[in-house]
Amino acid sequence: MSGGVNSNFRLNISPTPLVFERGEGAYLYDVDGNKLIDYYLGMGPMILGHKPQALVDAVKSQIDSGILFAGQTAIEAEAARLVCELVPSAERMRFGSSGSEVDQAAMRLARAATGRTKVLKFEGHYHGWFDNVLWSTAPALDAAGPADAPVPVIGSKGQLKDTADTLVVLPWNNLELLTARLAEGDIAAVIMEAAMCNQGAVHPLPGYLEGVREACTKTGTILIFDEVITGFRLAPGGAQELFGVTPDLSTFGKAIANGFPVAAIAGRADLMDMFTSGGVVHGGTYNAQPIAMAATAATLKSLTPALYKKIGVAGTALQDGFREIFASAGVAASVVGFPQVFHVALGLDKPARDFRDLAKMNRPAYIALTTALMYRGVRALERGAWFLSSEHDAGVINDTLAAMRDAVRELKAKGT
Ligand code: PMP
Repeated sequence: MSGGVNSNFRLNISPTPLVFERGEGAYLYDVDGNKLIDYYLGMGPMILGHKPQALVDAVKSQIDSGILFAGQTAIEAEAARLVCELVPSAERMRFGSSGSEVDQAAMRLARAATGRTKVLKFEGHYHGWFDNVLWSTAPALDAAGPADAPVPVIGSKGQLKDTADTLVVLPWNNLELLTARLAEGDIAAVIMEAAMCNQGAVHPLPGYLEGVREACTKTGTILIFDEVITGFRLAPGGAQELFGVTPDLSTFGKAIANGFPVAAIAGRADLMDMFTSGGVVHGGTYNAQPIAMAATAATLKSLTPALYKKIGVAGTALQDGFREIFASAGVAASVVGFPQVFHVALGLDKPARDFRDLAKMNRPAYIALTTALMYRGVRALERGAWFLSSEHDAGVINDTLAAMRDAVRELKAKGT
């Protein structure tokens, strides 16, 4: 395997990329017998924790019926009905296999519906690894131009540079700049995380999402919420339910199937029906794979109010505990986000407003911190995100806080 891994986002993890044997509840066990409290949660999907019994039972029973039919199944209809019931804007939906793909499907629909080419995205918002969106996702501020007129920053060697011509990049949370640009009337879609979660947590400013909605409606621009992280995690109906703002299209992945490779696109019937009668192509051999659909239905049926309440208590206790530890150690840190997913930025003394603020966080110190935590049995993402599941109970939170207290003490003593 190139680099010993199968995704670039699993490379170079300090002190070393680990090899795992099994996961259970809030814990991962590696091949050396180490037990780690897991806050990666598969990079977001495992809202029910590792190996939830209801999902395991559903998958075991589905596999007895066969593997792949290239036709429809009752279990996919059930999973689709659950998505449409939970997601406020979902008049119609389709399943896909990854967040990257369904984001492409959403942008294609928007282009077809508007007859326009350009998509407007925001600095620091990640919408998958494909050529036309892997722009301005890494903190490379020296190449990014002025804050109010960013220059798209390419994400990968080998990426088609011409795709920049199909993109407009703006800073997020700045309604004035967005409204002025949309007024030019040539933007097919605005795509965004409604609360920035992927590269770090940033809340929408009061009125921002409503303002974006209004500006899109006025200019005939399709509003796409990328809910690959926020969907089924911030609330059963995602960020659109939490903030009460309705996108035209939204995309899902990760928590929709608690670790199975499932994604979805949902939204306005007139747009979604362009797949059927509007000449817009959407495909995928593995879309709605029956075993993955059993996992999807089992996951979505588990998303009860009690589950969000439980994660809410644990996530709030963890964030409060971190704030207290950093404050009493005299460490500047901002702990921002939601109980279900939040972000720790060392070196920031107030919450970031956009990606350029976030880029000022002290990354080397944070990597040293996650390394110190790993040696204390806690696995946290080096980019600062913390994902919680319903299995992170009070005992798990207390053990995590003890590890954090100890790790901060060690790093302070070393002068990190
Ligand atoms: N959008 C967002 C907001 C994401 O966080 C991700 C994945 N981290 C994607 C899209 C792409 O999803 P996938 O990795 O399933 O292709």
